Amino acid sequence: MGGRTLPSRARIRFGVFPMQIRKHFRFEAAHVLPYHSGKCARMHGHSYRLEVAVRGPLQSHGPARGMIEDFDTIKRLVHEHVVDALDHQTLNDLIENPTAEHIAMWIWKRLDPSLPGLDELVLWETANSCAVLRRSDFVAP
Ligand SMILES: [Zn+2]
Repeated sequence: MGGRTLPSRARIRFGVFPMQIRKHFRFEAAHVLPYHSGKCARMHGHSYRLEVAVRGPLQSHGPARGMIEDFDTIKRLVHEHVVDALDHQTLNDLIENPTAEHIAMWIWKRLDPSLPGLDELVLWETANSCAVLRRSDFVAP
């Protein structure tokens, strides 16, 4: 081994480059899709599942040292700004034409100012249907 340079992968300095953490939430809500041609034009409810992803380097000081962000901080912010506002509500009272895509955009606007590093939202409307919104989606074409 002596004298040989290590492969580049072995020289990655973990913690210097950003990585992503993710937390899951749930809320129940009703909605009507007024423009839909099928049954979604009738009032109905979903058990929404929300994934919130935060990206950044690891903090090097303070109580969140070694973390991108404290999971408890993310939990508190998402409950305060999103879950408490949407749970057991009729989404049409808050969001125009509340499709999964529009709900995800609404959540992004609520969270972005208070959650630095917000990187991705995944809003599951059913077990197999979701909308995904990423920070990279906002880059001008
Ligand atoms: Zn629906």
